[in-house]
Amino acid sequence: MFLRTPLRGFGATLAVLTLTLSACAQPGEGTGAQEVAERADDVVAAFAPGDPTLVAGLVPTVYEDTARGVRAEVPVVTTARRMTSAMEVLRERGLREASWDQATDVDITYRVVASGPGTLGIVVVPTWEAESGTTTKPALVWYDAGSKRVHTSPVLIRESAWGDFVDEMTKAADRKIKKDELRAALADEAAPQGTGPMLGFDADGNLIAHFAPGVLARKDSATVRLKADKARPLLSDFGVRAAAASQSPSVFDGAPSPGGGTVAAEPPAEDQSATERVSADPTTRPSTAVGPDCATLNCVALTFDDGPGSETPKLLATLREAKAPATFFQLGQMIKANPEMAKQVASGGHEVGAHSFSHPNLAQVDRARLQKEIVDNASVMEEAYGRKPMVFRPPFGSRNQTVDEIIHSTGAAIIQWEVDTHDWQTRDAGATTEAAVNGKDLQAGSVVLMHDIHPSTIAAAPAIVSGLQGKGVTLVTVSELSLNAESGYRAGRAYCNGTDRAQKGAFCAG
Ligand SMILES: [Zn+2]
Repeated sequence: MFLRTPLRGFGATLAVLTLTLSACAQPGEGTGAQEVAERADDVVAAFAPGDPTLVAGLVPTVYEDTARGVRAEVPVVTTARRMTSAMEVLRERGLREASWDQATDVDITYRVVASGPGTLGIVVVPTWEAESGTTTKPALVWYDAGSKRVHTSPVLIRESAWGDFVDEMTKAADRKIKKDELRAALADEAAPQGTGPMLGFDADGNLIAHFAPGVLARKDSATVRLKADKARPLLSDFGVRAAAASQSPSVFDGAPSPGGGTVAAEPPAEDQSATERVSADPTTRPSTAVGPDCATLNCVALTFDDGPGSETPKLLATLREAKAPATFFQLGQMIKANPEMAKQVASGGHEVGAHSFSHPNLAQVDRARLQKEIVDNASVMEEAYGRKPMVFRPPFGSRNQTVDEIIHSTGAAIIQWEVDTHDWQTRDAGATTEAAVNGKDLQAGSVVLMHDIHPSTIAAAPAIVSGLQGKGVTLVTVSELSLNAESGYRAGRAYCNGTDRAQKGAFCAG
């Protein structure tokens, strides 16, 4: 067991700038779980305390992989599917970045910081230990029940007021904070994409900007507080609701705020590459997308079916090397046969979806068999991964109304594909690479079908990943692909791409 570094918050009592000082690790000081809880409490210490019991349908889920020192606790919120998806995306992202760092110990936990009519704010706190030291990268997700969408913190500020917000923040910051570093962080996207702050409120309605360790101070987190009267004129309609939901938390039940004031849909900025956005004019509000903003990036989701099998670890090594995620549609019987490989996939931060228990043609079997293959299999997956899968791919893409209804009952969306590499037919690495990188149907938002049980597919993976990345593609999971789209995935509905364009690929109709 590694020695954790206990963190003690100096709390919100110090006005304007709060530095969280890290003390030297001392053996025997508390249990791991207590220290993780303290660390999470430190991260949200400047915000008004939230109350998870006010969130209807919130159920904590835990994924554990003791062999790799992984424990990840994030909530399912049955009244807010997109928030649940965001929690899953952030959990996977944390696990992924930890695995890139070759972490020896990973803890992920969460705190509810705001709840009220139509409004929910949850912070996910991933922390990991590696040779390079301790990394903590908290991310705050705001959910609006009116639009059923999730956003990062800049959504609290009116787009047109962002320049004024940056000016006010610069004035409010302590002298110890370097202004150029502050402005650079405010121009960047929020975690997990960038170094922008988490924005929330304290009990007096002051706006709190929390910068992760390493952003404004080398090892410590930093907090800048903007007084309520200065912050108020800068807030968006949603920001006003978020302030109320922070100051006086009340019940969130998934219904929209009666007063309306949903987050206005804003068109993506034109022709801006990721690099340009980072160095953008500081008066431009950064994207509010949670994770990769697939409205402006060329996102593609690689998917691998029928595993986990003996070839899977080689594929995982390729993906880790390239810092690329993928989605694995696994068979329950393969998870049971290869539990260690199943953990490797999930602990590597990849998305895991269901592909039935034993791969029958679901449109041709009776109800009892469907129960076993879909509903019972969801429990098999819950046992392995701590929660039921949110995405399901029927074997052969084959489905009918009954199949859809039963998948719907498990809460999963049906994910088909837009690009078929035919890797199972050709069993040829060159042909698989060509189909995945240069396939005629490939476009931004595509889902690409492959199988991680064929050595030829595993052999093709390095060229596929580098080929796509070389074309400027951002590889994402299936859930990342749609997380920030206007219409996200819905349970029991079928999708061939993760965007708002027509679902016209294989077996997507309906
Ligand atoms: Zn299959």
